[in-house]
Amino acid sequence: MAMLESVLIANRGEIACRIIRTAKRLGMRTIAVYSEADANALFVQMADEAYLIGPAPARESYLRIDKIIEVARHAGVASIHPGYGFLSERAEFAEACAANGIVFVGPPASAIKAMGLKDAAKALVQQAGVPVVPGYHGSKQDPDFLRQKAYEIGYPVLIKAVAGGGGKGMKRVEKAADFDAALESAQREASSAFGDPRVLVEKYVLSPRHIEIQVFADAHGNVVHLFERDCSLQRRHQKVIEEAPAPDMTPEMRDAMGRAAVEAARAVGYVGAGTVEFIADGREGLRPDRFYFMEMNTRLQVEHPVTEAITGLDLVELQFRAASGEKLPFTQDDLTINGHAVEARLYAEDPEKEFLPSTGKLWALEFPEGEGIRIDTGVEAGAEVTPYYDPMIAKVIAHGDTRDEALSKLADALGQTVVAGPKTNTAFLKKLCEAEDFRVGRFDTGFIDRNLDALGVGPQPLDEVAASFGAAALISREIDRLRMSEHLKNDEPSSPWSQPDGFQLLGTRSVGMALRVDGERVEAREVFSAEHRGASTVAVGTSDPWADEQVDREVEAPHGVYVIRNGRQTLVQPYDPFDVDLEHMDEGGAVKAPMHGKLVAVFVQPGDKVEKGQRLAIVEAMKMEHVLVAPSDGEVAEIAAEPGAQVAEGARLIVLKAEEE
Ligand code: ADP
Ligand code: ADP
Ligand code: MG
Repeated sequence: MAMLESVLIANRGEIACRIIRTAKRLGMRTIAVYSEADANALFVQMADEAYLIGPAPARESYLRIDKIIEVARHAGVASIHPGYGFLSERAEFAEACAANGIVFVGPPASAIKAMGLKDAAKALVQQAGVPVVPGYHGSKQDPDFLRQKAYEIGYPVLIKAVAGGGGKGMKRVEKAADFDAALESAQREASSAFGDPRVLVEKYVLSPRHIEIQVFADAHGNVVHLFERDCSLQRRHQKVIEEAPAPDMTPEMRDAMGRAAVEAARAVGYVGAGTVEFIADGREGLRPDRFYFMEMNTRLQVEHPVTEAITGLDLVELQFRAASGEKLPFTQDDLTINGHAVEARLYAEDPEKEFLPSTGKLWALEFPEGEGIRIDTGVEAGAEVTPYYDPMIAKVIAHGDTRDEALSKLADALGQTVVAGPKTNTAFLKKLCEAEDFRVGRFDTGFIDRNLDALGVGPQPLDEVAASFGAAALISREIDRLRMSEHLKNDEPSSPWSQPDGFQLLGTRSVGMALRVDGERVEAREVFSAEHRGASTVAVGTSDPWADEQVDREVEAPHGVYVIRNGRQTLVQPYDPFDVDLEHMDEGGAVKAPMHGKLVAVFVQPGDKVEKGQRLAIVEAMKMEHVLVAPSDGEVAEIAAEPGAQVAEGARLIVLKAEEE
């Protein structure tokens, strides 16, 4: 069978770009579909044809099966690649493709269905002899019954949405007293994210290592595995750094896991690329009798590049070949592991503020190039990170002969990465790559949570060096502006204002300016040395001058200067007393939305007395729930939004008034 003539990519961002790249190499015509928010996106520019399918919210665009099929028919496409997320694991999408004579680049709808719900999937693979996590994955959902099951399983337990994905609707529970609240929260997240509140309860595996197996099957009954990936570095059950192979993996364990994964794939008649995720009990190192099936993702995985790096294969090409009916070009015995690869997910989020997604324009975006470095991104400088989709900016992937080499390369690449605009997790990722215990392979899925301080998570002191460099840039910008306007007024050569050293003629040795550094008001003072103005330094607040220090980059924007130092970004702006101060949103008793999102729950009513720190409401944004707490003791004066409402960043949700003594 000939290669597919064309492909419509029912996705966006980096994965759409990545699929287009391979499709073009294979000589296929590429068709993009996009939302209003993505009109200028890189993947739209890269595709041969592009069609607008709706407004920004995914529900009205990337999740509209009818519109996507309509475009596919209009453009006469041979196939549709769903990428990951969005419609990739929706059986009805695969069915709609088939019904319209379009090849779905993915497994049969029946395989998606069989693995779609975690409870049914566990039952199914268990029958095929694959070990599963002990727990209750039946249909009863009564809280008393589930609490009893949790007791029988033994704490800690994990409550999971059966329809779950992306770490949503998952709650670890330490003790019986916490079970009901956790169940309620998991069910609420599950309903809102998946339209299905059902959960399962399973044993929380201790010292857990997330190790998954990449499988690949053709339509002729051949199934192989492409080794493992270790995705144990996680935050909130979401992967942060992934690598292949897994540290300390033994040939016996790899063989056992590979066989189990192939069995799971066979059990559902799998075709194409898929991933079987296991959780391994790492308390006594990796052991072939201590790993358990968690779920199968019936699609291409975000972290597939590390597997590509160690196998030399292009998984998207293999997907197209399998979808067009070709036989797998290799057997299990042909496959070998070459070196070690690591991937870091670079996100527009702020590790110093609970990893809140950070949106806005990318004033600068630069990545290093080099042997063994791969960057998968869907944005370029000038693009906007919007609140509508996953805020991933790029995947940075490094490949080396050894694990140590790969990690060093990745750390270096992150060090050379420049992002100005939204806050990012660059510094955090770099620290992770350099963390000693991780370097020697001593880690599990709790590693990040146990090392938050060392990883620079949480409020950090202002970077005074960066602030000083930013202040210097703004002060000289201001001086140039003053000079320019004076120059225009006194346009004769003898004017003191037109001399290069004219500034000294002011008789001033120091210039002050009020600035805002990451939202905080500071006074900056530039002190001029007598000989040479260029050597000037700036003191912010009371700190010392920083003559010997360096920063990585300064990026000028109309509203200020972004200073990047050690992967951390500091924004220095002229102080404008009328600016909205997003940093102090709880002033005046108003509790405001920290970001665009949906108000999912309000726990108080007008007239309620609340204590500082008490939970008031929950805003769900992008991937998670953000709990809003009372900034002080007080009484609820007003509730300004209804549960279920979409709320804008900075919107007033609840107003507290101080309690009268
Ligand atoms: P993977 O299992 O492939 O590593 P994750 O489970 O970490 O992926 O990702 C969680 C889910 O978040 C994905 O399955 C997908 O549903 C969604 N997701 C992540 N990034 C994006 C994106 N850029 N666009 C759409 N959906 C995404
Ligand atoms: P999702 O569909 O959201 O990816 P998973 O079932 O794959 O859900 O679980 C996500 C993560 O949660 C895993 O990578 C793992 O770190 C953790 N996890 C899941 N199940 C368990 C368990 N039984 N014990 C310990 N950790 C678990
Ligand atoms: Mg998973």
